[in-house]
Amino acid sequence: MSAHPYEAPETQSQHLFDRARAVTPGGVNSPVRAFGAVGGTPRFMASGAGAYLTDVDGNRYVDLVCSWGPLILGHNHPAVVEAATKALLNGTSYGAPSAGEVELAEEIVARIAPVQQVRLVSSGTEATMSAIRLARGFTGRGKVVKFAGCYHGHVDALLAAAGSGVATFALPDTPGVTGAQAGDTIVLPYNDPEAVQAAFEAHGPEIACLITEAAPGNMGIVPPQPGFNRFLAAICRANGALYISDEVMTGFRASREGMYGIDGVVPDLMTFGKVMGGGFPAAAFGGRADVMGYLAPAGPVYQAGTLSGNPVATAAGLATLRHCTPDVYSHLDTTAHQIAELASEALTKEGVPHTVQFAGTMFSVFFTEKPVANYDDARTQDVKAYGEFFHAMLNRGVYLPPSAYEAWFVSAAHDAAAVDAIAEALPHAARAAAAAEKS
Ligand SMILES: *Cc1c(COP(=O)(O)O)cnc(C)c1O
Repeated sequence: MSAHPYEAPETQSQHLFDRARAVTPGGVNSPVRAFGAVGGTPRFMASGAGAYLTDVDGNRYVDLVCSWGPLILGHNHPAVVEAATKALLNGTSYGAPSAGEVELAEEIVARIAPVQQVRLVSSGTEATMSAIRLARGFTGRGKVVKFAGCYHGHVDALLAAAGSGVATFALPDTPGVTGAQAGDTIVLPYNDPEAVQAAFEAHGPEIACLITEAAPGNMGIVPPQPGFNRFLAAICRANGALYISDEVMTGFRASREGMYGIDGVVPDLMTFGKVMGGGFPAAAFGGRADVMGYLAPAGPVYQAGTLSGNPVATAAGLATLRHCTPDVYSHLDTTAHQIAELASEALTKEGVPHTVQFAGTMFSVFFTEKPVANYDDARTQDVKAYGEFFHAMLNRGVYLPPSAYEAWFVSAAHDAAAVDAIAEALPHAARAAAAAEKS
């Protein structure tokens, strides 16, 4: 991978990336971090504080990735650090139940009405994988319905036409997922009730569950059209299939109660991650008590984890949720709209086609003028223009997601100074995008 024209010739990040590529496939531990979609060298980070990241070369960035969602309070929030430190001093892992797990489960159950019982795991992938197994065990059926452009982690059965890194790199199919694993997955276009209707007419009695992002955020933000989630819940119920709402990204982020707090649609099962781990590996799945009762040791469906309910992660997650006050959500909302408007103004001024879309406090900027209702629409983006925009922002100290298919995240720590820094960088980036458009 060659250095991007914006880059200094020799940096600590480049040295680290060279070393990393020798010992780690592609030099990273999660694909989008490699900057493959935007070119250039990924920045290796040394520290985070509030709204800012500092890389190993001492460059400071306003962070609009926020660890891809978890850091809703910003980097190194004092209350989260204190809670995690306090837990850490009592031991790192017990392999036995502890009070923090009960408190975190109680907090989730208290906040999210459809969740009567919840099981803690360590990643969003584990949450969706386990929810699907549970749905299959509960219904005795095999097929799973998902939508193109939705990402539910790297679960075999759910990688077909997935969003996030799969979208970023336009991976057609993932080698290593067998025909049998993918063959039980029905992939449909998002926001298309007729396609859902047709799938249930053709396969109704075989469908164990339908899984959807409560508002897709992994192909950029694509809100469900009015009534779409309600329709999905109803058609699942009518066919004896479970409706799984994946709120790993939107949960405790789109609003205090996630997307559920916005559309009020009641799923059978829900999955959570990101914000609820407070920057540590913690995630969860939960829902109807009769369905959750099928999980071992209460029921026959096996699911387990050495580090599930880890005391440090649960303490950080609990501290994060407790500090996510209504004030935090209104700040996120205001700040997200401010940044989105600034970006849109700058791009409009330079004549760069774009569309800004929201789901609660979450938003993204698509480099296409057409409103984006599904994955095919998202793919009309000018990813080259985004790449130039991204690097111009990076060069002026703003860290955007290194892919046009991802949401932009703000935190409670994004104050007026952070917004000003973004506002100053945007006109340069819009000009770079405009130049890429013309070339
Ligand atoms: C991030 C994400 C996942 C996967 O979570 P990991 O913790 O990365 O495994 C699943 N579903 C959605 C909607 C996500 O955004």
